[in-house]
Amino acid sequence: MDDFLDDGPERSVQAMGHEPIPQARAEDAVRELLRWAGDDPEREGLLDTPARVARAFREYFRGYLEDPGIHLSRTFGEVGGYDEIVLLKDIPFQSHCEHHMAPIIGKAHIAYLPRDRVVGISKLARVLHGYARRLQVQERLTAEVADCIQHHLDPVGVAVVIEATHACMSARGVMTAGVVMTTSRMMGVFRDDDRSRKEVLALMGRG
Ligand SMILES: [Zn+2]
Repeated sequence: MDDFLDDGPERSVQAMGHEPIPQARAEDAVRELLRWAGDDPEREGLLDTPARVARAFREYFRGYLEDPGIHLSRTFGEVGGYDEIVLLKDIPFQSHCEHHMAPIIGKAHIAYLPRDRVVGISKLARVLHGYARRLQVQERLTAEVADCIQHHLDPVGVAVVIEATHACMSARGVMTAGVVMTTSRMMGVFRDDDRSRKEVLALMGRG
């Protein structure tokens, strides 16, 4: 999988069933946007900008090239009778809002209560990043991460809480810097049982 993702800057990419689009066309589009904004893409400081932006987009939106669930395909059944909450807390991430393509910057807390299988803990962060590196709304990002864990691990419960700031709010429009949006998705025992929900929220520091 990692080899597949390690595409060079010139490689064209086929995603979501579209024809592959060569990077040169993406660079032309950036030049057009620069002109439209009122600048001159031929001036020295902007000459390499279209190529840089194209490469940055490839990185921001790398999630379209992968199925995040792949990270949960290798599970461990030998958990030594462990039957408590597994929590990965304060995972930093960056995404982009699908309305303005502006950055969404925040952190996620991901927890599950295993039934009989666990995954390497870093895999939870990889699932998050797989969905975050797409155009998103925070609500859907939260739901997709939780659903993916539920689907692949079939745990007793899943809890995902995401806190993030949206540049489309802080840098434009109403200009409200520092406003944090919180979303959560509780499944299984964390949705149905009050005590379990309180326990996981307390572990996340949100109790
Ligand atoms: Zn937005």
